[in-house]
Amino acid sequence: MSAVNSNAGFSTRAIHHGYRPADNQGALVPPIHTSATWVFPDTAYGGRCFAGEEQGYIYTRISNPTLALLEARLASLEQGVGAVVFGSGMGAITATLWSMLEPGDEILTDQTLYGCTFAFLHHGIGHFGVQVRHVDMTDPAKVAAALSEKTRVVYLESPANPNMRLADIAAIAALAHAKGARLVVDNTYCSPYLQQPLVLGADVSVHSMTKYLSGHGDVTAGAAIFADAELAQRVRLYGLKDMTGAVMSPQDAHLVMRGMKTLALRMDRHCESAHKVARFIEAHPATAQVHYPGLASFPQRELARRQMRQMGGMMAFELHGGLQAGVRFMDALQLVARAVSLGDAESLAQHPASMTHSTYTPEERAAHGISEGLVRLSVGLEDVEDILADIAQALDRVHASRPAAPGHALPAQAETA
Ligand SMILES: *Cc1c(COP(=O)(O)O)cnc(C)c1O
Repeated sequence: MSAVNSNAGFSTRAIHHGYRPADNQGALVPPIHTSATWVFPDTAYGGRCFAGEEQGYIYTRISNPTLALLEARLASLEQGVGAVVFGSGMGAITATLWSMLEPGDEILTDQTLYGCTFAFLHHGIGHFGVQVRHVDMTDPAKVAAALSEKTRVVYLESPANPNMRLADIAAIAALAHAKGARLVVDNTYCSPYLQQPLVLGADVSVHSMTKYLSGHGDVTAGAAIFADAELAQRVRLYGLKDMTGAVMSPQDAHLVMRGMKTLALRMDRHCESAHKVARFIEAHPATAQVHYPGLASFPQRELARRQMRQMGGMMAFELHGGLQAGVRFMDALQLVARAVSLGDAESLAQHPASMTHSTYTPEERAAHGISEGLVRLSVGLEDVEDILADIAQALDRVHASRPAAPGHALPAQAETA
């Protein structure tokens, strides 16, 4: 099916894989198939499609040529045997886990998880006889000790949202497999360009394509990419078709494929700018700590180099002065948008303590690894000088309003401000 050699480079496959203009009246850009249903030439053919003997299209909630092209490209980019796309990242995560777990099974996950994934595990599948256990995935020895005979799935994010902790995907995949469990990795923060979980040994890679893969903040979409064709088929025919119905619209698949054409270019720029921004924030006196895998101060720097092509566009940092400092920084921003989500052309910042986790107590936030002054930043594609200037003025404002430590004079600027 492929129009380009599977040895072609990443961007060549992101642009061409699976499509030939000659098969589509010369159209350079793949047509969008909006049809919800597919016409059978006779009943016998329809019967064979439903029996799985014929590979024809039946109904778009099961499969569709536009969605199939996107699936083929994703599988190619992460070296999977197949992929299934969904109407959101949560659609991908829930459909995958509903298909892999049964009552009596156990899922072992990290302590840090995307909030809605945490909610699905504890308020969703956890109510249906699946045991949910958390362990510190930064340490493979702790994962080894926590795996049990009942563990069917090990689930992690690397880097984790929002605190940037990494997990050793190859080591944890080997431990899981030795116990008969499968490893699912949420690869949203990296995109297929920066990290390839299946190559490292994971069984499934899930993405919110709302983020870097589509890249323009105008689509909600998800994907699961598989090392095992049978599991891919189960997730499609059970998790997608029956359990969640979280089908992606073909128009959205077109937008995701348009975004993917520039994925490598965009990621190179996100990474380059984020590195500069991280170094700048780390050097500023308002900052207590920066969590960015490219910094010498990042504790898992070696692991980052081993499993990531570049260090990514996401970071988190802690400001001196806790909640008030975080609020002051956020409200001072002029170019960087105060918004959740990530991976867009626009730089986006969010302060969990005053925004996503404002209804938690400080103790509950601490239990989720979220300190009061923690700010999450998605570095966008604007000119880096402009991003730096906006962050500089916001950090200066935080710093100027800090009470002086006992025995230290206020800096001259703050005294006159
Ligand atoms: C956004 C996100 C999700 C959920 O994806 P949606 O497309 O919003 O449903 C899952 N995991 C991570 C790491 C995310 O950032």
